Amino acid sequence: MGRRSRDAEGAGRGRVSRRRKPETQLVEAGRRREWTQGIVNPAVWRASTILFDSVADMAAANPPEQGTLHYGRNGTPTIWALCEALTELEPGAAMTRLYPSGSGAVAGALLAVLEAGDELLMVDTVYGPTRALCESVLKRFGVTTRYYDPLVGSGIAELIGDKTRAVFMESPGTHSFEVQDVPAICAAAKARGLVTLLDNTWATPLFFKGAAAGVDLSILACTKYIGGHADLMLGSVTATQAVADRLEKTRRVLGQTAAPDDAWLALRGLRTLDVRLRRHQENGLKVAHWLKGQPRVARLLHPAFPDCPGHEFWQRDFAGATGLFSFVLDGDDAARTRLIDGLELFGIGYSWGGYESLVVPADPVRTATKADHGGPLVRLHVGLEDPDDLIADLEAGLARL
Ligand SMILES: *Cc1c(COP(=O)(O)O)cnc(C)c1O
Repeated sequence: MGRRSRDAEGAGRGRVSRRRKPETQLVEAGRRREWTQGIVNPAVWRASTILFDSVADMAAANPPEQGTLHYGRNGTPTIWALCEALTELEPGAAMTRLYPSGSGAVAGALLAVLEAGDELLMVDTVYGPTRALCESVLKRFGVTTRYYDPLVGSGIAELIGDKTRAVFMESPGTHSFEVQDVPAICAAAKARGLVTLLDNTWATPLFFKGAAAGVDLSILACTKYIGGHADLMLGSVTATQAVADRLEKTRRVLGQTAAPDDAWLALRGLRTLDVRLRRHQENGLKVAHWLKGQPRVARLLHPAFPDCPGHEFWQRDFAGATGLFSFVLDGDDAARTRLIDGLELFGIGYSWGGYESLVVPADPVRTATKADHGGPLVRLHVGLEDPDDLIADLEAGLARL
């Protein structure tokens, strides 16, 4: 691997690269020889300082490009391998950058496209810390946020004003799982010259392709399914050409970078994403269908169920469902606490996307729209355990009520 190497496209083993199926991309992407040195996986390249042969050599490395050793903040082959793999999974995207967490990626993407005086259109079912960013730092820097109904679809056009700069989507919505009509929202936003952002953490690019749907900045909390083993914090933003330069320049001045050890773990996780997600889907659906027949379960909030708001968009646009969904308990908050506290196989904890099952009480916050679910929400992450064991655990829990 030279200090000066070209950017991504088509360098692997001297072949002409062609678009392969996603399952093959998960195995092959980012494994070019100059980064792996012929070993199956790249090493963990840790670096701050990179040494140059001469002043001229140093000058030649500017401005830094991805794929060129320059300084640790600009990445090393471990980072570039993951970036290249994530870009390849998003046809139409130009590049990917990594951040120290999913929340860091959300902040890095928004700060790249917004400026004082702008208005941001934000889905009302957004992840809590993203809402908190809008109401704190963005507000302090003169950006106003207007929240919209997740089911707005092409009606987003009516909300776009002179100051509107960007539309942020998260589909399905945090805790309540409404699926958005992402292509329609992007088309309406594009017609008015807006930038579009999507938090695609639930589906991953394996089950939903953001750039192909018109998204400029596709954000992942790699902490979740990409890592897949509950042992790292990492975020990514995959950008189209139109916004790539702004994303990179903002990342650089904000000093956003990721640890090569975490990128290495995420790269390992990525190789098995397909088999893991398929099992999360299968187990999740089995548990969800069982729950649906239980007298103490009032409703399922799961994109694959026909009564989920936006289910038709999930059917049209997604290649699968993952293991995260909620149900509405027929009971009060105290009953919910008793149910959750008594479960044995579902751990109580933040995050999700690891191999293990988790449960949390979910209390969605909305400010622009109302959703009365008629009871408290329980959010499950269904892991890779035998689903019959998970069902037995839930059955005992519901029986205790
Ligand atoms: C977890 C999560 C994030 C934030 O990721 P972290 O790595 O925990 O900072 C962002 N968006 C969604 C939808 C998430 O579930």
